[in-house]
Amino acid sequence: MGSDTPQAQDGLAEHAASQEIDQCKALLGEIGVVLRGSITEHLVRCGKKGCRCQETPPRLHGPYFDWTRKVRGKTRTVRLTRAQAELCQRWIESGRQLNKIIATWEGVGLEAALKLRDRRAP
Ligand SMILES: [Zn+2]
Repeated sequence: MGSDTPQAQDGLAEHAASQEIDQCKALLGEIGVVLRGSITEHLVRCGKKGCRCQETPPRLHGPYFDWTRKVRGKTRTVRLTRAQAELCQRWIESGRQLNKIIATWEGVGLEAALKLRDRRAP
């Protein structure tokens, strides 16, 4: 019998899954502040007559940094300094990393369940 029984195979599959999950847990431990949304940097033309932004070539205002996110379907924007924007950008990257880890973790369960289904199918 040994590792050929369905029970033994289930055990092996679960062991492989638990190793992948351990990796996810280790990666999670490296994540600090997480932020959702995105940072944009842009230059502005104000529209005041005679302003430098109306010259040829134009010298636009900025750069300005905005943190934009959705709150209950509405876009919310917060103006940031360059330093704040750089910090928030790192937090947003952490959020993306968190998403990846969760997707991997969920994928482990999906793969394990599909293996069970494939083997048990008549
Ligand atoms: Zn202007």
